[in-house]
Amino acid sequence: MTEARIAIFDTTLRDGEQAPGCSMHTAEKVRMAQQLASLGVDVIEAGFPIASEGDFAAVRAVSAECSGVTIAALCRTAAADVYRAAEALERAERPRIHTFVATSDIHLLHKLKKTREEVIEMTGSAVRLARSLVGIRTVRERVVRDRDVVISVHCHNDLGMAVANSLAAITEGARQVECTVNGIGERAGNAALEEVVMALNVRADQLPFTTGIKTAEIYRSSQLLSEIIGFGVQPNKAIVGRNAFAHEAGIHQHGVINNPLCYEIMTPESVGVPTNALVLGKHSGRTALSLRYRELGFELVPEDLDAAYSRFTELADRKKRVYDQDLLSLLSAGAESQVQALKIEESWESIVA
Ligand code: MN
Repeated sequence: MTEARIAIFDTTLRDGEQAPGCSMHTAEKVRMAQQLASLGVDVIEAGFPIASEGDFAAVRAVSAECSGVTIAALCRTAAADVYRAAEALERAERPRIHTFVATSDIHLLHKLKKTREEVIEMTGSAVRLARSLVGIRTVRERVVRDRDVVISVHCHNDLGMAVANSLAAITEGARQVECTVNGIGERAGNAALEEVVMALNVRADQLPFTTGIKTAEIYRSSQLLSEIIGFGVQPNKAIVGRNAFAHEAGIHQHGVINNPLCYEIMTPESVGVPTNALVLGKHSGRTALSLRYRELGFELVPEDLDAAYSRFTELADRKKRVYDQDLLSLLSAGAESQVQALKIEESWESIVA
């Protein structure tokens, strides 16, 4: 069976950028767009050209600088909006005009003040105009002739379910997901690209779909975005959070040291995270402590490890995080009594092996 291909439509630079504190200058958008192209997204939505001169300039610059990827510009259904989007996309190798209109009863009544028939007419004229401006022959061929439409899903995270809803839509036939790096976006954000992609990747047994994403570029993309917009993701954020691959509890640390699959359903390397971090704290056990001492160059005999461990738990009770410097000072405190630390020569790998 051939797995269905899901197109990744990234809107980090449009919906993501609209969130408070996430705005980006043209040069920053170009830099992020180039990373998104390396990440392997199918479409980069670069902005909403009629919204401002800055957005127009950014879409133009991204169109000129990025190749091998479709560049989309957002517009409402008014002709001026559509023309402005087309103009911003002039230099794109593969331009896409993304026209939209609200369709729920509540939006029709309170926002657009239009009837459903009027909105359907607006939609038709916007799509007709858009396809006359960029070569979207596929729209005419697919929509008008055999109506084989690619359904795209755009979910927000108001109830924390943007990714779950996107996956549900894929299983029901959607073949494009609109999402953002780190899940940034209006209000509670958009579906997080990294979560959608890794869910399809890790649970391929349940979700037989592929994407073009190079997963090893995920962490780099997340870090670059955080650096540009000036704020990171919460530490417990799936896939890209600081603690996503960190293990503090002793039982977990022991398991991960023996075989990472005990508590890691994917490897840090698969998403480009340099290594997993074993955080030492009051829940840590002797195994993790002894491993950290080895990394620091000290091999402790069992009795010394016991002694160091008891001082370590005492300290960890008082201190939230125990750092390498603390561990070294614990050793020198012990040396005054009976602990002997032996400097070891073997590499960390040979010990673990
Ligand atoms: Mn949105």
